[in-house]
Amino acid sequence: MLFEKTNVMMKKALFIDRDGTLIVEPPVTEQVNTLDELEFLPGVIRNLYLIRQHLNFELVMVSNQDGLGTPSYPKENFDRVQGKMLKILENEGITFNDILIDTSTKEHPLPSRKPGTGLLKKYLSGDYDLSLCYVIGDRLTDVELAKNLGCKAIWLNSPDNRPLLEEKQLTSTCVLITPHWDEIFPFLALPYRTAEVTRKTKETDVYVKVALAYSGQCEVSTGIGFFDHMLEQIGRHAEIDLVIKTRGDIQVDEHHTIEDTALALGEAIHKAIGSKAGMNRYGFVLPMDETVAKAAIDFGGRPSLIWKVKFKREKIGDMPAEMFYHFFKSLCDAARCNLYIECDRGNEHHMAEAIFKAFARALKMAIRRDPLNKQLPSTKGML
Ligand SMILES: [Mg+2]
Repeated sequence: MLFEKTNVMMKKALFIDRDGTLIVEPPVTEQVNTLDELEFLPGVIRNLYLIRQHLNFELVMVSNQDGLGTPSYPKENFDRVQGKMLKILENEGITFNDILIDTSTKEHPLPSRKPGTGLLKKYLSGDYDLSLCYVIGDRLTDVELAKNLGCKAIWLNSPDNRPLLEEKQLTSTCVLITPHWDEIFPFLALPYRTAEVTRKTKETDVYVKVALAYSGQCEVSTGIGFFDHMLEQIGRHAEIDLVIKTRGDIQVDEHHTIEDTALALGEAIHKAIGSKAGMNRYGFVLPMDETVAKAAIDFGGRPSLIWKVKFKREKIGDMPAEMFYHFFKSLCDAARCNLYIECDRGNEHHMAEAIFKAFARALKMAIRRDPLNKQLPSTKGML
């Protein structure tokens, strides 16, 4: 057993939709009537197996089966498909603790029809820690069910449909949008790591938010165009979500703005990493154009920067070249990491960009975690 099962009094559950989530939903009838139509979604079996084996969630199937038991949807059709589906899953070590089916219709819904919680009273009685429970489903009604239960949702859908969540005020309920089951087990095994840092002095006002997720969305504004461009390289190439808003005394010069942004970013990375269990401690990369940049990183807990970079120009864009060293020194001091950076020839705009990209790729490798390995990457037993 890789993940220790705890004896906490409160239980936790995954409420999993069936059609469109476990098995493919026929687009016209929205009914799986025959064994020929039975098809599992890609990755569902291997991920449910990992969840069942390594995480202590109860598995609860919750499904609307419109008009089941009427001539338009004979019960024997459903039973044949359901029986085969459960047998295949059982043979792979996946069993459900509970299976809850509502048979009412969209036109005449009962309180038991999703997103109603009528079938789930048992889970609202206080035995379950709903803050640790998730609904997994492909429809907005699954996300609404999560909201009604007071738990979170994993929406099996395209991230392009995120605006639909905003329209229904479901953004805070939905903690993961993904079309792939392969993202679900790692997400549940390793919850997102995020941190916010606010740093206010007489010289600067900095807000940094990082989410060590994989989307690479950036919102950067420091008042120094070239610096913004470089910070965006970190978000995109490390594939972390990054919000950086700095208002600094650039009427004096760029120094405080760059330095304090680096300190806040380093602190946010340090806080977001938290426990280093299961994390890849080291990372390095060698991107090449007409220039070569090397970056290696170690989140070993002690700050140190080796900087083998030679800029000849005084400024790159609107950023003083000497501030690149100062940025990385401040960042690695605050992030408590060792950083080695080398780049000594080529077009200087390319050099700067290659350094930031190399750093970002090294960071991406270093912060990745293995969901099946919760050991600290150190023989000392602490980092
Ligand atoms: Mg569905």
